[in-house]
Amino acid sequence: MSPVFASVVFDVDSTLTGIEGVDWLAALRDAETAAYVKGLTERVMAGELPIEAAYVSRLARIAPTRDELRRLADAYRAAASPGAREVIATLQNAGVRVVAISGGIAAAVVPFCVWLGFAERDVHAVPVEWNGRGEYAGMDPATPLATQTGKATVVRALGLPHPILAVGDGSTDVEMKRQGAVEAFAAYTGFTHRKAVVAAADFVVETFADLMPRLLAPRA
Ligand SMILES: [Mg+2]
Repeated sequence: MSPVFASVVFDVDSTLTGIEGVDWLAALRDAETAAYVKGLTERVMAGELPIEAAYVSRLARIAPTRDELRRLADAYRAAASPGAREVIATLQNAGVRVVAISGGIAAAVVPFCVWLGFAERDVHAVPVEWNGRGEYAGMDPATPLATQTGKATVVRALGLPHPILAVGDGSTDVEMKRQGAVEAFAAYTGFTHRKAVVAAADFVVETFADLMPRLLAPRA
């Protein structure tokens, strides 16, 4: 089999795992906070609200502790997408560069993605800081991943081999294609099905088994 794309960029939340991390963290708080955060997340992912408008306030409202991020990493693993590990290993064995680019929090996203098989240097997410008691002390205000077009910025900075396919479920994933950072975008609908995202996709997959034949073609 020969690779169709030289690099594949995966979204994490609601793509490699069924969990939307920020919603999971918000659900640890009171019902009002959970509903507020979930509403913002849905509007961002549907492309109705730029992520910049939501990211900092959403996280400050939740103020996740370091221990809660450890628990989120476990929850990510428990909800890992069926077949994702196999796809990642197969791509790596075929010489394809696989990277994970996430608007989620690095302390949970990195251990989960390393467990899935990604090289640690190929996992990019939002750094968050805690004080000595493990209480939330803010996020890196300079990270491009808290912005609408940040995933495209990160892809360009990595200098990945082309052609590149991006796989994801949200509006920030679509931006990688819209900004010209990747050649193709696949909408992953295994967990969520967003009209604007599906409409912008080159193709749509519901499972990782469906994705495989799009990534590796029989040798001519
Ligand atoms: Mg996602």
